[in-house]
Amino acid sequence: MTKILIVEDERPISNLIEMSLRGAGYACTCVYDGTAAADLLERERFDLILLDIMLPGANGYELMEYIRPMGMPVIFLTAKTSVMDKVKGLRLGADDYLAKPFEIIELLARVETVLRRYHKAEARLEAGDVEIDLDSRIVKKAGQPVGLTKKEFDLLVLFVQNQGIALFREKIYERVWESEYMGDSRTVDLHVQRLRRKIGWEDKIKPVYKVGYRLEL
Ligand code: CA
Repeated sequence: MTKILIVEDERPISNLIEMSLRGAGYACTCVYDGTAAADLLERERFDLILLDIMLPGANGYELMEYIRPMGMPVIFLTAKTSVMDKVKGLRLGADDYLAKPFEIIELLARVETVLRRYHKAEARLEAGDVEIDLDSRIVKKAGQPVGLTKKEFDLLVLFVQNQGIALFREKIYERVWESEYMGDSRTVDLHVQRLRRKIGWEDKIKPVYKVGYRLEL
C-alpha cells in the first residue's frame, strides 16, 4: 500500500486530506509539527510527503533540506501563493506545490502524478558502473549481471540512495531487515562484506569508525 505522510498543523485541513486520501486507497500518517515529522522520518519511509510550510517546530523549508537526501517525493501545501515562495519550494527540491485552499480532486490528481513520475524515474538507479533495476531487481556491473541475495540487493539500494552519507549499523539493520536492531553488528558486517566483494566495491563501501559504513564513489 502506498504510504503518505501528512505534515500539517491545521487539524481540519489535515483531517480532510487524510480522509480523502484514505478514501482513495492510500495509507496515511499525520503529524502536526516539524519536529515530530523529522523524528518520524528517522524511523520510517514514505512514498510521498505532503508538507505544509508554516509549521510549529521546524518549518517546511527547513524540513525539506532534511528530507531531500532521503529521496522521498514532496508536495508542498501552503497558504502562501506568491511566485517567490513557489520558486523557493521547487528549488529546494519539492516535486509539486499546492496552494490552500485547494479542491480535493486537485490534491488527488497531483498526488497521482507525482507518484507516477517518481516511480518511473526511480525504477532505475545508476552508481558508477553499476546499474540497478528496482522493478526486476536485476543488478549489472559493467553490463554484466551480478547475482545478489534479497538482503544484499536491499543493502546495495540503501547505499546507492545515500551516497556519501555515513550510515549507522543500526539504521542499516532496521531498513534492510525491517526489524529492531538488537546490537548484532555481525549480520550487517557480513552482508556488507559479501556485497562489496560481489559488486567489486571493496574500496568504495568504507567503514566509518564506531558508526557503520559509507559509500564513496
Ligand atoms: Ca500551517
